[in-house]
Formats: sequence, structure tokens, C-alpha cells
Amino acid sequence: MKNKRFRELIAIAIGFILIFAVLLVERIGIMYEETASEVALLTDDNVTHMKESKREKTCLLLWQSGDVASEKAYRIYDQILIDMRVPYESVDLDEDHEDIETLIKQYKDIVLATGNLEEIGEDILTLTNWVGNGGRLLLGVPPYKGDIFNFVSGKLGILSCADEYALVEEFVSDENFMLGAQMSYPIIDGYESALSVVLDSKAKVYAHTKEKNVPLVWSRNYKDGRFVVCNFGYTEKAYRGIYSSAYTLLDDVFIYPVINASVFYLDDFPSPVPAGNGEYVKRDYNMGIAEFYSRVWWPDMLSMAKDHDIEYTGLIIETYQDKTSGELPANNSTSNYYYYGNMLLNQGGELGYHGYNHQPLCLDNFEYKQELGYRTWENYEVMNESIKELIRFSSSIFPGQEMSVYVPPSDVLSDEGRRMLGVDFPQIKCIASIYLEGQDEYVQEFSVAEDGIVETPRVVSGCILDDYMKITALGELNLHFISSHFMHPDDLLDEDRGANIGWEVLKGRLNDYMTWVDESGKEIRHLKGSEVAGAVQRYVNLIPDYTVEDNSISLSSKGIIDSCYYLIRDNDGTIENAYGGELVKLNDTLYLLKAQAQRVTMIRSAQE
Ligand SMILES: [Zn+2]
Repeated sequence: MKNKRFRELIAIAIGFILIFAVLLVERIGIMYEETASEVALLTDDNVTHMKESKREKTCLLLWQSGDVASEKAYRIYDQILIDMRVPYESVDLDEDHEDIETLIKQYKDIVLATGNLEEIGEDILTLTNWVGNGGRLLLGVPPYKGDIFNFVSGKLGILSCADEYALVEEFVSDENFMLGAQMSYPIIDGYESALSVVLDSKAKVYAHTKEKNVPLVWSRNYKDGRFVVCNFGYTEKAYRGIYSSAYTLLDDVFIYPVINASVFYLDDFPSPVPAGNGEYVKRDYNMGIAEFYSRVWWPDMLSMAKDHDIEYTGLIIETYQDKTSGELPANNSTSNYYYYGNMLLNQGGELGYHGYNHQPLCLDNFEYKQELGYRTWENYEVMNESIKELIRFSSSIFPGQEMSVYVPPSDVLSDEGRRMLGVDFPQIKCIASIYLEGQDEYVQEFSVAEDGIVETPRVVSGCILDDYMKITALGELNLHFISSHFMHPDDLLDEDRGANIGWEVLKGRLNDYMTWVDESGKEIRHLKGSEVAGAVQRYVNLIPDYTVEDNSISLSSKGIIDSCYYLIRDNDGTIENAYGGELVKLNDTLYLLKAQAQRVTMIRSAQE
């Protein structure tokens, strides 16, 4: 009897050991996948092209420097076309230029980055005839109403247009248009900015407002060509992805390279944990800050990471002393760093640099436009010494870690500081600052700088994640297929960042955002800071070119390093298969392609 029970116990023990072994093998498998990744940072000499497109220019961007709204629209479309690798020429209609008829005949797509059709005058007829003969014209911003507009509105599919402009307070995408279309996106400070129109049955509407159903993006075939109208007037960086998505409707098939990355940064982590109490932490949890971080906040962050398959990128601060002159004393109180830093690394995350202290790399010639309460560094040498000390400190605690990402404190970085990082600190290969324009911030585009440093802006931040953040995230998901978020542990202590709302609610909002990423970007890669930089290196180096036939698409990726990603919009057909790559259908018209060879051939069936 006893023997039998013993044998049973042994059997159970063996069972456990086997399960453990399977889990271990699986874990090793995962680790192998990560180290053999196609996102490893490359040495500078691998990146030899910077967002080049093939030589023959097929797109014409028309704008007017004398019109402020047109200038804003121009800046949006200029960057979109560069990033989507559309070979284009831009012409300022307010400057001397060839007559429109001669000018447009060599192009196949035109973007009109002005709403001022009256300035175009009779030439509008030349433009519409060109569309009738097979041209594709994007009205890039809502047109101004006037005689010229009335003259062409029927061709755009407009049956009637109200005198008043329509209020645009939210953006709703058709489910088969943009990624993230499962919800509507409120617009902060919306105003009467869109044409209030009724469209005919030949117009295809891709985006609209919620209540009044004002069409915001539509296309309409006209004879052998096509008009696309972007009836959306907020030409700010946050909304870029709406304009780029409208552009993808012009051609039957449009292919553009993307970065394909979702990343979460934890700024000031690890860093010295503030002593004492935080008002709202005390209110909600009856704990001091240190206890709250270790017992509530960090376990919650780890559990969300597990639920959403996230590996955090933590950015180290050595001290919160604001000393910016003379000797910079080392922080000898390191137990928090071992504790949090190693847990983050065990979770699969990586560490990078944020600062010796939280004083941005600025000398006294830097003028802050807003009062952030920062000092400037006494001189270049001390500023330089601060990064040296940070690197020494970080590698003494985490000796096996290769750290390559730098995040500027408060996203502020002076020209001198930026140059210094490139010249004196070869271990820093990537700067992750900020996407949206601010007053003092180091604002970036996804790119590789002349000195080889990869620029990887963070798109949204914090836990409040308001409507503006949401639509900004929507835009970048569709333009670069990227989602990039950062937060600080001390968001929970700062009223401006939502401390009074309490962690329970903030956590819910952060979790909602993570869920939104999972649902909207089902196929997106979950990467860490240095891997995003590796992905950007591969992205900028690409020079794509493609030809579309009724039954096939052939895509060439000059500059491909090992693999790369594209989004493909097929407006008039279905793509069945890809040779030389892996194809995933994201919605009825949009595909994600992983190309693994310089030539990829796709089989396609075109609609009648
Ligand atoms: Zn910080």
C-alpha cells in the first residue's frame, strides 16, 4: 500500500519534471528566436540609403506658398510621400512654373495640397480632363467653395453641398480602410472644417463623422481615372496617417514600406525611488511610495506585460541630485537598481540610458521656452562627464547588458548635447525622444542621422491617453505600422499626469491602450528599444519599386538587408499569394507583407 502511494508520488514528480522541461525548452526556443532576430542593430556601414525612391518621378505635389493652410498641407504630404517612398516632384503654384497642361502630362498621380481651387481657375478643366484620361488626383484638403468648386463638384461625386461647413468632432474609418477602425476617434477642439456634402452612388466612402455622417474620405472613379477627396482639414502631425491612408486609395494597388513595431518604454526606471508619501498613493493605498512601487505598481506593470506580450525598455537615471557643475558624485545606493533592473531583464526587457541626473544635455546658450525648472550644465566637459558617469554606473550594476538606447530627460536635448552623443559615445546608437512638436523638445522623424544614430521618436505617453493621443496613435499605426509609448513610474505622483485620478483608473486606461494595440495591429511585432532602431535601419535603407498587372504584382526591394515589411493596399482586387515573402491579410483591402528576398511576386485577381 505504502509502496503504491510512493510510486504514485514518483510518477507525479516525473510528470512535473517533464512539464518543467517542456516549458524550459519552449523558453529557450523563444530566446533563440530573439537573439537570431532580424531586428538586431547594424553597424553604420550597412545603412547606405536614406528613404530613397526610384528615380522616375510619377507623382506631382501641387501647393501654394502664399496660402498658410496650403503650406501646412504641403508639409504633411511632403513627409508622407518621402516616408512612403513615392517618387514625386513638388511645384509651388505661386512661383513661376510651366503651364499646367505641359506640367502634369508626365505624371500618373497628383496631390493637390491646397483647397484654393479659385487660384487654379480655368486650369481645373485641364486637371479634370487629365483624370478622365486615366490620371489619379487627390484633393488633399477640403476645397474652398466657389465657382470653380461648383464647376467640378459633380465629377467628384457630389450631388449637393450645404453652404455651411460641417463640424468634424470625430473620425470614423470604414472597417476595411484603416487599422484601428473598430472605434471612433473624437477630435479635440473640432470645428466646421469639412464640406457638408451628399454623394452619388458611384462614390466610395472610407471615413466619416459619427453623428451627421459627413464623408471625410472618399474616392470616385471618373471616366478612366479616379478622384480621391480628403475632406479632413486638420493638417497637423498627429493626423498624418489619415492623409497617408487617403493617398493609398489613388492607385489600384499601392505598396509602401513600414517599420512594423510596437514598443513600450519606462522612463526613469530604474531610478532612485522617492522617499516618503505621495498624496494620492497614500489616499488610495495607504502606503508610502517605495512600498507602493514594489507591491502594487510594478507587479501590475509585469502582469499587463504578460497579458499583452510586452517586454519593457527601461531607462536608467543615476540620481535626482541636480548638480550640473564640478565633481559628479556616484550614487552608492544601488539595491533598487538590482531589484527592479534585474526583474525587468528577467521579464525579457532591456535597459538604456536616461541621464546621470534628470537635467537635459543643454549648456547655458540653450533657452527654454517653457519653465521646466532645469539647470544647464556648467560646461561641455561636465556635461560629457555626466554621461560617462551614467555609463560607468549602469555597466557596474548590469555588466552583461549591452545598452544602446538614450532617452533625453523630458525629451529635451540641445544641439551641443546631440552632437556630443554622436561624437563621444559610440555605445549610444539610438535616441528615443518625441514625435509630436513641443516648445523645447527634441522632435524626431523615424530616420537615421548623418552620424549613424537612429532616431526613434515615441508617439504617445502616460496613462491618461486622451483623445488626441488616441488619434495620434491611429495615425502612426497606419503610416509606419508603429506604436510607441512611454511612461514614468512617477506619473502616479504628478497631478498633470493624472495622479489624482488614481492608479486603478490609470492602469485601466493603459491596459485599454495595450488592448487597442493588440486588436488594431494584430500582426505587429513586439520589440524593444534597440530592436525598433534595428527595424528603422532596415526601413530607411529600402528602395522599393513595383509593377502591377491584372494577375500579378512584382515588387523589388533594393537595399533589403535581411527582411523588410510593407503595407499593401489593393483597391481593385485580391492578392492570393506571395513568392519570396509572407503575406497576411489585415482587412478586405490591406495586407502586410514580409519580404525576404529582393524580388517578391504576388498572385492577384483583379475585380472586373
Ligand atoms: Zn525622465
